[in-house]
Amino acid sequence: MPNRKLTLIKASRMFDGSGKATVRNAALLIEDGQISKVGSSSDLRAPEGADVQTVDYGNATILPGLVDAHTHMCAPGDGTPGDEVAREQDDMLLLQAASNARTVLHSGVTTARENGAKHAVGFSLRDGIKRGLAAGPRMVVCGRPIAITGGHMGYFGSEADGEDGVRKEVRKLLKEGADYIKIAATGGSTRTSDPNRASYTVAELRVMTDEAHRAARLTAAHCTSAQGVQNCLDAEVDMIIHCIFVDPDGKYRFRPDLVERLVQAGAWVNPTLYVQRARIDRLLRKREINGKLTPQETREMETIKRTSDVRIEAVGKMAGAGVRMVAGSDSPWGWYAPGEFVNEILALADAGLSNRDALMSATSGAAESIGVGREAGRLEPGRQADVLVVGGDPLRDLKTLWDVRDVYQAGRQIQRGVK
Ligand SMILES: [Zn+2]
Repeated sequence: MPNRKLTLIKASRMFDGSGKATVRNAALLIEDGQISKVGSSSDLRAPEGADVQTVDYGNATILPGLVDAHTHMCAPGDGTPGDEVAREQDDMLLLQAASNARTVLHSGVTTARENGAKHAVGFSLRDGIKRGLAAGPRMVVCGRPIAITGGHMGYFGSEADGEDGVRKEVRKLLKEGADYIKIAATGGSTRTSDPNRASYTVAELRVMTDEAHRAARLTAAHCTSAQGVQNCLDAEVDMIIHCIFVDPDGKYRFRPDLVERLVQAGAWVNPTLYVQRARIDRLLRKREINGKLTPQETREMETIKRTSDVRIEAVGKMAGAGVRMVAGSDSPWGWYAPGEFVNEILALADAGLSNRDALMSATSGAAESIGVGREAGRLEPGRQADVLVVGGDPLRDLKTLWDVRDVYQAGRQIQRGVK
């Protein structure tokens, strides 16, 4: 077989995403874009006579390509509010999304779930990447989030009300090619919405989950209020995004009863911890450069810090109670720049997840939660070779995830040159 082209990659260790112990002196063999063997380099050999390119990374770790369960590729991640992002023309948003998708891929993310873009931009991005027109991760898309009139992200084009209205909107999105259904179950940063209040009724939510599940699609809901979380549990939503227990008066009251229900339901929670902190980090950088912040900026930073600390503590308690946590960056949204998924993984570890659990939540756990557990998030023979190699040992120090040595997509080594 003279034309068999194989790649053998070696490193001092491998985390395969299964949760099993790390493989020492690891090797992974890629053939025709797929993983053909994984194991230790002493007993893993390429077939006799094959044309093998061997890359030895030395003190490094081979991991599955990361899975970011929450992106908004059409936003710039420079502080531009969603209301303004939505005012851009679709062609500009698609260019922005393509640029971000490339950055995200280069950072080691080979699968991403897009949580809402305007009009058909999300579909075009997914299909364009598939056709090789743009570089980017494998995309799982909802198209547009479904929102009540005036609700959060309704500006992207899928406002729908009433049981008949939301049923029709789900069917429309499925017809356009939605891989899953995203619902804005509470208000959010959208100016005409209230993040502390539920938007849809349980009956409306129930119609959407029934309709999605009947078509074998998953559902995920934006929930920044306790009532929203409760409604989504009543309607059997598969993933609760943000999961913030705030009451209409704006006060945070931890809800052990809802946590218990999340565990019982086996619902995934995507807490999006860094998107707030991103603003803090920007302000800290500004202070470093300018020597000071305005009084308004200082107040803003203190307020964000307080709410962020409350949420980090709550996520620790939820994880401790057995809620299944998934890493999803919510970037590039607000001040969260693209290509910094690692910050969300670090935040989950700050909340109390072990390094191993944090890594699982960003690989196999995330893949399972978005319905691609059979394709992504693990290194196993027969799977597409989406592989990340980082220097050092992320199980000891998650910050080593910043040290990307190489990203392979379907076995192809990505050229990560300057932009
Ligand atoms: Zn989001």
